[in-house]
Amino acid sequence: MAYSSRHTEEGKTAQKGNHPASKRSEKPKKKFNQFIFRDWCKCCGICSAFCPKGVIGRDEKGAPVIQDPDACIGCRFCELHCPDFAITIKEREAPKDQ
Ligand code: SF4
Ligand code: SF4
Repeated sequence: MAYSSRHTEEGKTAQKGNHPASKRSEKPKKKFNQFIFRDWCKCCGICSAFCPKGVIGRDEKGAPVIQDPDACIGCRFCELHCPDFAITIKEREAPKDQ
């Protein structure tokens, strides 16, 4: 007669409350800077329209204006959709005095 055996886990499984994911909110948020090359920009408004966070507004002439730089999440939608490569997003460097 053949018997099959099952191994049982002896170690405790991780408790959900102590999972590292629950500490994610403690991480410092990344910040980004937005650079617009005015000579290349034709004021089409695409970057402003694509920005999901309202970082880029427009002035009375339609030119892009960075109105809330700290709200930028670095998605780069603006950079990817700009037809003139006139906007660049760069992650802000952490302060070096540590
Ligand atoms: S990277 Fe995203 S959030 Fe930041 S300015 Fe561009 S579109 Fe807006
Ligand atoms: S998408 Fe590019 S060209 Fe159009 S307004 Fe923005 S920066 Fe200027």
